[in-house]
Amino acid sequence: MGTQTIEELAGLVRGGVVAPGDGDYDEARRVYNAMIDRKPAAVVHCANAGDVIAAVDFARGSGLPLAVRGGSHSVPGYGTCDGGVVADLTGMRSVRVDPVRRTARVEGGATLGDLNAATYAFGLAVTGGIISTTGVGGLTLGGGFGYLARKLGLTCDNLLSADVVTADGRFRVVNDKEEPDLFWALRGGSGNFGVVTSFEFRLSPVKDIVGGPALYELEHAAAILRRYREYIVDAPEELGVFPGFQIAPPLPFIPEDRHGEPFVLQVFCWSGPPEEAEAAFRPLREVAPPVAEMIGPMPYPTLNSAFDALVPPGLQHYWKGVFSTELTDDAIAAHLEHGPKVPSVNSTMHIYPINGACHRVPPEATAFAHREATFATVIAGMWPDPAENAANIAWVRDYYDAIAPHSEAGGYVNFMSDDDQQRAADNYGASYRRLVEVKRAYDPGNLFRVNHNIRP
Ligand code: FAD
Repeated sequence: MGTQTIEELAGLVRGGVVAPGDGDYDEARRVYNAMIDRKPAAVVHCANAGDVIAAVDFARGSGLPLAVRGGSHSVPGYGTCDGGVVADLTGMRSVRVDPVRRTARVEGGATLGDLNAATYAFGLAVTGGIISTTGVGGLTLGGGFGYLARKLGLTCDNLLSADVVTADGRFRVVNDKEEPDLFWALRGGSGNFGVVTSFEFRLSPVKDIVGGPALYELEHAAAILRRYREYIVDAPEELGVFPGFQIAPPLPFIPEDRHGEPFVLQVFCWSGPPEEAEAAFRPLREVAPPVAEMIGPMPYPTLNSAFDALVPPGLQHYWKGVFSTELTDDAIAAHLEHGPKVPSVNSTMHIYPINGACHRVPPEATAFAHREATFATVIAGMWPDPAENAANIAWVRDYYDAIAPHSEAGGYVNFMSDDDQQRAADNYGASYRRLVEVKRAYDPGNLFRVNHNIRP
């Protein structure tokens, strides 16, 4: 152990330190996934990069594990740890847009909602995910995809530079000229390399979109998935769309007598000229009549937060994911068997398209190792009642076992559960060896190990 005490650490930190016994300890140690119940030795509420340096130095000096919490959405709960230090960035969420350079400077604890709200005013956006409460930090470091990915690339493809505190406590400005190896590793290598105190993104013109969800009878699932795999290959890149399976929530646009039933889902987002939306959607919409749909013009941030209420903090989470280059007939058969068994209204399965601008970035340009993939599938088990853990986890595992043979060996690090740690080499894929080298250079002691870990 080092000589610094938690009281001394607290004296250095602007944002405050919470330790066991403090009245707000249970609140401070809580993460998004309610299955995670870890008890850190100290939660450092970082207010600035100086606080981050203090947290990193304290953890290293004490020999304690260090967890970094951004948006807190990590399904395996990597935003906290047992007996270690949590660098909690949730107090660092500012976003500054430069409308002339079309860039945004985003603090490490900001959520996608924080980012979208700030950029929308300028008619600008960057690729984000589907839910607005997800953290920019973890999402970007693992890659990042969502509605705008076909048009703008992965979130990490739009990263211009990052301010990083590395394991030695040094603050570094990292971009393609300064510390390019570290910059490469940050774009797909997850939280293994340091604490990003701020991200600088390139923004692109996106303001209002046409989009929303549509639900179809299960009997149309095969036709919808087949049409999707054909059409999405060269559909206009302004189209972000994904199919899935979903239990109908009790929402007014869905007939009341169908609430609680499973359906095939398509979620649309068109970021091109609004008058072209209908033509872009038609090949997918004409496959089957919808049971319910709510598609229309709206601000991009509205679509990005449209499903937030389905996934509030405090659910149990167990997820798995795969990448695939093709959606084969066998894969579709597996989806038809397992998708309709989705066990709770919060749970879902989505098949995101990874093509368009994502494929124009050379494979070696970033550490994101799955450029050849065309689809990213997530089986997201999310449910409120811990008594239903076994049934929900079994659904995810059975579904995964059925589609894995029709998928690549590796999946998306951001969709993994803790029992996927042994898949790290596959998940980091062709980038793994170079990631290990960068890890050795910047974190030889593996201080940043509470993550989908790359061992030095
Ligand atoms: P945290 O739990 O705070 O952190 C996750 C990991 O990232 C940890 O290892 C942490 O140490 C590290 N980390 C976070 N911030 C920093 C930082 N500033 N510096 C260094 N390390 C950091 N992914 C997509 O790509 N697209 C989606 O549409 C999408 N939707 C999702 C919806 C939900 C409801 C959930 C739960 C997840 C979703 N994800 C999606 C997956 C998401 O990208 C990962 O869960 C991601 O890790 C979340 O990042 P976070 O900052 O919220 O999480």
